[in-house]
This record gives sequence, C-alpha cells and structure tokens, in this order.
Amino acid sequence: MSTNPKGRSWLDVRADALLANLARLRSALDPEVRVLPMVKADAYGVGMPGVVETLRAAGVWGFGVATVEEGLRLRQLGVEGPVVVLSPSPYAEIDAAVEGGLALSVGSLDALREVAAAAERSGRVADVHLDVDTGMGRSGVDWRQGAAWLDRFRSAATGSVRWAGIFTHLHSAEDDAESVQRQAERFGAWTAEIEPHVLRHMLNSAGVLHAPESAGDLVRPGIFLYGGRCGSDVPAPDPVVSLRARVVHVRDAVPGTTVGYGATYTAARGERWATLSIGYGDGLPRALGNRGHALIGGRRTAIVGRISMDVTVVNITGMHGVGVGDVATLIGRDGAEEITLDEVAEGAGTISYEVLTGFTTRLPRVWEGKGKDGS
Ligand SMILES: *Cc1c(COP(=O)(O)O)cnc(C)c1O
Repeated sequence: MSTNPKGRSWLDVRADALLANLARLRSALDPEVRVLPMVKADAYGVGMPGVVETLRAAGVWGFGVATVEEGLRLRQLGVEGPVVVLSPSPYAEIDAAVEGGLALSVGSLDALREVAAAAERSGRVADVHLDVDTGMGRSGVDWRQGAAWLDRFRSAATGSVRWAGIFTHLHSAEDDAESVQRQAERFGAWTAEIEPHVLRHMLNSAGVLHAPESAGDLVRPGIFLYGGRCGSDVPAPDPVVSLRARVVHVRDAVPGTTVGYGATYTAARGERWATLSIGYGDGLPRALGNRGHALIGGRRTAIVGRISMDVTVVNITGMHGVGVGDVATLIGRDGAEEITLDEVAEGAGTISYEVLTGFTTRLPRVWEGKGKDGS
C-alpha cells in the first residue's frame, strides 16, 4: 500500500455520523432496550475495528455477527461482552465458537444438541438464542410448531447450555407494515410463555424506525448505522462513508474516439475526459458504466463507457481546471453537490448493503474524528 492512504482511491468514514445514526435509533426506543449493532461482513464493509471501537465507546450492549470467524475476530479486538452469531453455524465451527465464548443462534433440536456437546467438551457454558422463523424462511424453527416443540427445546437447553435469547427476523420492514404485524404476532405467540430472563429480539434497522413498539429486550440494527436508508417514509441516516478517487489522466477526445471495453461510448463531438483511479476491483459497481456519476470540483460528471477493474472515465467537457491529482467523489458530498449511497445502489440496480459490502481491501478506510483506521 502506498504511504498516503488518500493517494489513489479510498473511503472516508465519519465516526460522528455513525454515532449520530446510533443516537437516532436509540431515541426511538425505550432506554432499557439493549442495542446489538450488526458488524458482520467487516461491519458492512465500513471496517470492523474502527466501527467496533467507536460503538463500544457509545456503550452498546454487545455485537452481532453472521459467522464464527467474525465473532472470534471481535474477541481479538478486545470485545469481552456479548457476541451473538445470528446465522446458522456449520456444526464443524461450533467448538471454536463455544471456546471463544460466542453466543450461537440455533433453529433446530439437532443444532442445540451440537452446541450442548461442544459445551460439554470444553467445560464451558454456551449461550444460545432460539431462532424462530416467522416468514423469512431461511433459518429457524417454523413458527407453526407448537408448545410441544418448545417444551422439548426447553428441556434440552439445560446444563452446559444457557437459553439466553429468542429471536426472529423481519423480511419487509422498510415497506410493509402489515407483514411486520403478522411476524410480530407469530413471534409473540412463542415468547408469551417463556422465562423472563430470555432476551426477546426481532427488529433490524427498518424495524426500529417503523415499529419501535415491537423492540422487546434488544434490537439488531445494521444498515442505518452505516448510512443506508430504510424506506422513503422515515428520515435518512447521516452519510457515513464517502468514496473518493484521484484523477490520474486527462485527455481531449476528438469525435469518433471510443472508451472502455466493448467501446460502448463514442465521443460525438470534441470532448474532454478524465480517468479516475477506481474500478470494480475497488468495489465501484460495474453496472454504473455509462449511467453513474462522479463529482469533481463540486460539479457532476457522467461516467462514460464501461467501468474497468482499475479505472473509470468521466466526461468533463466544458469543465475548466480539472487536472491530474484532483479528487473525484463517487459517493458523498463535494461542495453543494451530493451523490448518496442509495442513489448509487439504485443506479446499479441493487441495494445499499451490497454496495457497502462490495468495497474491497484495496480501499483504505480513512476515519475522520473518533475511532481509528480500520484497514
Ligand atoms: C443483518 C441482520 C440484521 C441487520 O439488518 P439491517 O437491515 O442491516 O438493519 C439484523 N438481524 C439479523 C438476523 C441479520 O442477519
């Protein structure tokens, strides 16, 4: 890596925005509700170390991840409090999880027995969170299973296993209030009868913003913390990441000049093009070829031609003073202009989550304010 993290292309990350978004979510909730920020997939690509340091200082209850490896990484970063693995774990990874003191989600009696056996082997007590499927369909015990199933679970979740939580996951919280009600009712039928110390949780970011009354004991926000919108009817989060790249080449293009693989764009008249040192190998969605934008000097330029792995070309015809070394903004603000994360996601035909998690290790994460370099 070059010594200057802002030498080629990079992500600016704002710790104050992360904290502001956390505060917005908290303000919708009763103060007793615990917050378990989801930091899976390198904290949605923002960078786990910096995110964890920033959020720990804000006093969150614990952290949620998808994989055992992510949970163990949190332990390496010095997180001693609760870490919950919310996706089903391959049985072969359960021993390592229990050794690391990670809480595991379980959605079947078989999985519960695997955790119990691992706990016996290690001589530790393993925390489990029962995953109830209320419509997501990808994991968990079917909500239609009745009290008899719950009794079998309860009698197996003893000894070296501690029943720490019960949860479900919403499938359409950003745009379908009725489905949230339906899932909440199905989940409520399961939680009504269980011991009060078992933590009830259901809400992702969109759930917190649309149905805070269903929070239960704990919420699991992800995308809103990192600057992704959760529906057009709720306020936008503060932008957390800005994607920047240097201009590395400027040229005049006479009529008939083509650009990029497939030569999909041709200069119709005399044009001026700038080459930016960023491509899909950095995580700029390739689908933005011939349709996305970049800001240079506070002005909007159009991406021309296909995006390459390492470079992207923009049309700067009529813009004076653009030169090699200038900073282009692919996501974020430059002067009065802004390209939002969600605008980029929409232009690429995807969601903010995929854009964020698509940023590769090539991009240094440059923290502004609190926190530290997460690269
Ligand atoms: C990823 C995830 C979340 C966070 O969802 P957002 O939409 O990013 O807020 C919450 N719960 C579970 C089980 C998840 O997998």
